[in-house]
Amino acid sequence: MMKNSAVNQQIYKVLCKGCNNILTRDEAISGKVIKLNNDLYHINCAKCSSCETTIGIRAAYPSSVGTFLCSECNLMANAPKCHACRKSTFEKCVSAFDVHWHQSCFKCRKCSRPFQRMEYIIHKGFAYDEDCYYQETLNILKDDEPIKE
Ligand SMILES: [Zn+2]
Ligand SMILES: [Zn+2]
Ligand SMILES: [Zn+2]
Ligand SMILES: [Zn+2]
Repeated sequence: MMKNSAVNQQIYKVLCKGCNNILTRDEAISGKVIKLNNDLYHINCAKCSSCETTIGIRAAYPSSVGTFLCSECNLMANAPKCHACRKSTFEKCVSAFDVHWHQSCFKCRKCSRPFQRMEYIIHKGFAYDEDCYYQETLNILKDDEPIKE
C-alpha cells in the first residue's frame, strides 16, 4: 500500500519530455497529458520526430529510441520502397510484378517513356515497352552498358 501512494506522488512530479516543465496533477486529470514511449508529455508538446506536427490525440508510433512518428510519417516510413528510386511509395503508387513504383517512376527502363495502356515487358527485373525490350534483348551484346545480373 505504501508503495502505491509513493508511485502516485511521483507521477505528478514528472517533467514533460517536450518542454521540460512539470506536468501538474490538474493537467493529468483534465486529459492534457499523454504518454508515449513511456514518457509523459503535455498534449501540445508531443511532436512527430519527422514532420514536427503535434501528435495531440492522434495515434503515435514509436520509431527509434525515445522518438515517435505521427501516423502519416509512420506510414511513410513503413511504406514499400519504389523499385526505381528506392524512396518510399507513400503517395500514389503502382504495383507491378510484385514490386512497387511511384506512378512517375514506372516507365520504360530504356527510353523513360510511360507505358501506353500499361503494356510492358519484364526484363531482368525492370519494365520495358515492347520496342525497347526487343532492342535491349537483340542488341544486348552491343550495348554500351550491359545490365549486370
Ligand atoms: Zn510540455
Ligand atoms: Zn509526422
Ligand atoms: Zn520512385
Ligand atoms: Zn522504351
